[in-house]
Amino acid sequence: MKWLVDTLGFEELQRQVFKVRRFLLASSTWPGGIPPEVAKAGDAPAGVAVDITPTPMGQGTAVALSSPDPYSRWLDANVVRGVAKGTVSAYAWARLGDITSDQFRSLAAIQRELGAEVRVTNRQNLVYRGLTDAQLPTLFDRLRAIGMAQPGAELSRDVVACPGADTCNLAVTQSRGLADAIGARLEEEGLAEVGGIRTNISGCTNSCGQHHIADIGFMGAERRAHGQSAPGYQLLLGGYVGQERIHFGDKALRLPAKAAPEAAVRVVRRFAEERGAGEGFRPWMERAGGAKAVAEGLRDLDHFPDPSEGPEFYVDYDETGPYAVETGASECAT
Ligand code: SF4
Repeated sequence: MKWLVDTLGFEELQRQVFKVRRFLLASSTWPGGIPPEVAKAGDAPAGVAVDITPTPMGQGTAVALSSPDPYSRWLDANVVRGVAKGTVSAYAWARLGDITSDQFRSLAAIQRELGAEVRVTNRQNLVYRGLTDAQLPTLFDRLRAIGMAQPGAELSRDVVACPGADTCNLAVTQSRGLADAIGARLEEEGLAEVGGIRTNISGCTNSCGQHHIADIGFMGAERRAHGQSAPGYQLLLGGYVGQERIHFGDKALRLPAKAAPEAAVRVVRRFAEERGAGEGFRPWMERAGGAKAVAEGLRDLDHFPDPSEGPEFYVDYDETGPYAVETGASECAT
């Protein structure tokens, strides 16, 4: 925000905020009704169109894939119809948020062909907006040709990570490497398409990966075992963005980095097996006894073998040498 004020100036930023504020739910659903200041200034809420069935979306959305047909699965998971006007949007899914230069060229060509607006999402995907239903088969074909039509949005495979030690000077761990490993394990275990559960990873306490507001959150931390440094994570469970405020995840336990994928798999499996119809992660977790109770089933994973028996526990993902914390000067806003 401070960079926006610095770049745009306060008045311009305020103008832009007011321009989009009328689309926010808060102005119509805030407890106690619309605040007097808003009512006085004539800030009309966006409202809900009567003849539209909007797509449920956001954290906890219980996405269900209804058919084995790839196009139907993409429609179920990646296409969203808006609340006010039924505007059609569709996600192009980017694994780990990565897009190659060839994919970028194709995405730009798709944008020109369909005349759609494109935005990036905070789950590291792209979304095409302002589509018509008739354009969806074309968009699916184009995205499939560049490997970006996998059902992803709001499914468990949509793991989000900050850049971590790949490029960040402040990183303690390789958060992207862990995200890759979790995604691979979920695919192996047939758990990559569980709906309504988010996993986010940050490579240090600065939290750029927003681990603290994810259902399953990992935060990179140095561990010491057998006289050596080793990559590790603090696991948080049950963070979410509510209508009125954000709830941070509860501390569950600390783990070696190499045990974190197994922990994620166990939590996703248990949630998938035990959740009630339409039940979100946090209500399930509370019914299961809270974060500490869920962590009891993971306790055996907090174990560092002797370096001679498990040398991989002392080397982070995508690294070749022994783990060592070497943080440098910050390049980002933190
Ligand atoms: S500073 Fe931000 S981007 Fe860098 S490792 Fe920490 S959380 Fe990740």
